[in-house]
Amino acid sequence: MPDTDYNFTDIENKWQEYWKDTKQFKAIEDLKKKKYYLLEMFPYPSGDIHMGHVRNYSIGDVVSRFKIMQGFSVIHPMGWDAFGLPAENAAIKRNIHPAEWTLQNIAKMRLQLVRMGFSYDWEREVAACLPDYYKWGQWLFLRFYERGLAYRKSASVNWCDSCNTVLANEQVEDGRCWRCKTEVTQKFLEQWFLKITDYAEELLEYLDKFTVGLNTF
Ligand SMILES: [Zn+2]
Repeated sequence: MPDTDYNFTDIENKWQEYWKDTKQFKAIEDLKKKKYYLLEMFPYPSGDIHMGHVRNYSIGDVVSRFKIMQGFSVIHPMGWDAFGLPAENAAIKRNIHPAEWTLQNIAKMRLQLVRMGFSYDWEREVAACLPDYYKWGQWLFLRFYERGLAYRKSASVNWCDSCNTVLANEQVEDGRCWRCKTEVTQKFLEQWFLKITDYAEELLEYLDKFTVGLNTF
C-alpha cells in the first residue's frame, strides 16, 4: 500500500451523505430536458453483492453520470428480482421463511450498493416480492386472462420426489437434482401459459423500429 493521506472512508462517506441529503440522483420530470431511462438489471437478492454486480453496475453508473452531465433528465432505478424458485430453495436449505431470508438479504445488499456510491434514485426502489410491486403483475395477468391470452394446460416438468419441488432445467445435473442428487422424473402438472405466439408476426414486422435508444449514447 502506498503511503497516502487519502482517507477513503471519510471522503466517500462525506460525498455519499451529501448526494443523499441533496437528492442528487432523484429523477425529476423536467420537460425542457430529454429523458433518459437507464436500467442495468435488478439483482436476485442472494445475500451479497459480488464482483459481477460491481462490474455491471459500475458501467451503468458511468453511463448515468455521463448522461446527467450531457443535460438529460435521467431515471436510474434499482430494485430486486426477489420472487420464485431461488428464494424457496434458499429458504428450504436454511430452514427459515423465504420472506425473512429475502428481506434480510435486500437490506444487506442495499447497504453495499449505497457504499459503492452508485447514482440510483432510491426513492424508486422496488422489490418483486412485495405486494405494491406484484399487484401489477397480478393486474396484468387478469387482463391477459380476460382476453384469452393466459390459459392452463397440462405439461411435463422436472420433478424431485425428495425435495418435493419442480426444478428448472439448470437445476438438473446429469439427470439428478442439484441439491439432493435424487434422480429427476418428469411429472405432468397443470400450468399457466401466456399465448405469446399470437404476437410473433407483429413483433417480426416491427423489429426494425426497435433500434431507437441503442444509438443515442
Ligand atoms: Zn432434490
